[in-house]
Amino acid sequence: MAPTPPDPHDIAREMLAFIDAAPSPFHACQQAADRLQAVGFTEVREADAWPQGPGGHFVRRGGSLVAWSVDPHHRPHDGFRIVGAHTDSPNLRIRPRPDAGRAGFRQLAVEVYGGALLNSWLDRDLGISGRVVVRGAAGPEERLLLVPRPLLRVPQLAIHLDRDINKDGLQLNPQQHLTPVWGLGPSSPGGLASFLGRELDCAPSTILAWDLMAHDLSPSTLLGTDDELVSAPRLDNLCSSWAAVAALCRLAAEDRELTHLPVLVLFDHEEVGSTSERGADSPLLPALLERIVVGLGGGREDLLRALAASVCCSADNAHATHPNYVERHEPNHHIELNGGPVLKVNANARYATDAASAATFVLACEQADVPLQRYSHRGDLPCGSTIGPITAARLGVPTVDVGAPQLAMHSARELGGSEDPAHYTAALEAFLAPAP
Ligand code: ZN
Repeated sequence: MAPTPPDPHDIAREMLAFIDAAPSPFHACQQAADRLQAVGFTEVREADAWPQGPGGHFVRRGGSLVAWSVDPHHRPHDGFRIVGAHTDSPNLRIRPRPDAGRAGFRQLAVEVYGGALLNSWLDRDLGISGRVVVRGAAGPEERLLLVPRPLLRVPQLAIHLDRDINKDGLQLNPQQHLTPVWGLGPSSPGGLASFLGRELDCAPSTILAWDLMAHDLSPSTLLGTDDELVSAPRLDNLCSSWAAVAALCRLAAEDRELTHLPVLVLFDHEEVGSTSERGADSPLLPALLERIVVGLGGGREDLLRALAASVCCSADNAHATHPNYVERHEPNHHIELNGGPVLKVNANARYATDAASAATFVLACEQADVPLQRYSHRGDLPCGSTIGPITAARLGVPTVDVGAPQLAMHSARELGGSEDPAHYTAALEAFLAPAP
């Protein structure tokens, strides 16, 4: 008897568990690392000697992660199949001197990270997460921090004190109106450090610095009369990050002979332009690809041959057509939830897709037997972008931009389809492992 195919809703729940456990880019990398290690991948430190020969490995650099899998038959000049996504999402980040307060409230000063829909952060119970660097016996030590209980809240002004809001629209000044409250009483310098000391079981004076951020605490869930939808934070772009990790893990479990060397890259800092030591506009991926080739015994000629035989898939969620704003979408390119992965094309190269790279993803969807949708942005609205064009320019590798469809992108709470995670993972797996 043929095995029953997995229920798409179960696959969607797997994605939601990943998202809920990953409120910061550092936690997204930890979730990816846990899943990769469970199927036999081992972590490599960039400063250590490079592993020689076959095996699955990954490298972490802050909130970015690169994983790859070398088969015994892989040659140094074999092309790569690369799937790239990003681990960061717009949110509220805690300032270096955050202790503040007015009118009897203790508050924590924050700065907006990326293009957040500011209204979506109001009136939600927020936790904090990220990393804290503390003084250790052998130098600075990084600690992951996740406080998954209600700590912060940005209360909205009552309508009685803002009578025109429903006529004029909500006006939020990011400096003045988004400072969360987190208690009552006088604020004192060092309040956050004391709290962190208790959470991390260390003296506040040993805390050197932090990268901390707020997250919505409502658990992700399936939604709708027949569970057709998923309601979750950070679908852009942990949906793609999870799908790419799941695809690589499935490949590792299948033990197939692959024509290309599969690579997964999860970049931090996409939402703020990718310019950092670990963003898409850094040497992180080019350097690792070179080290993979060298680890296989190859030289520069092999690297250039491998790159010339490679294709990259930039996986970042796409806009489904909004039922209340249908006119904001290009009328011939409507996108449906649960309609399958979306191929994104932009004439001005805001997406990296061209006909040749598009064809690789069309064939991957055929191979995986999943439907494909095609997106083009309205001509009278500026189009967003992805890591696709940056990665293509950094590597000189043809790149296709794709994504799972969703609504409410950059809200603290987004909405997707519950069958798309299954479609998306299958398509990315087929892209990583094209039929010979
Ligand atoms: Zn994105």
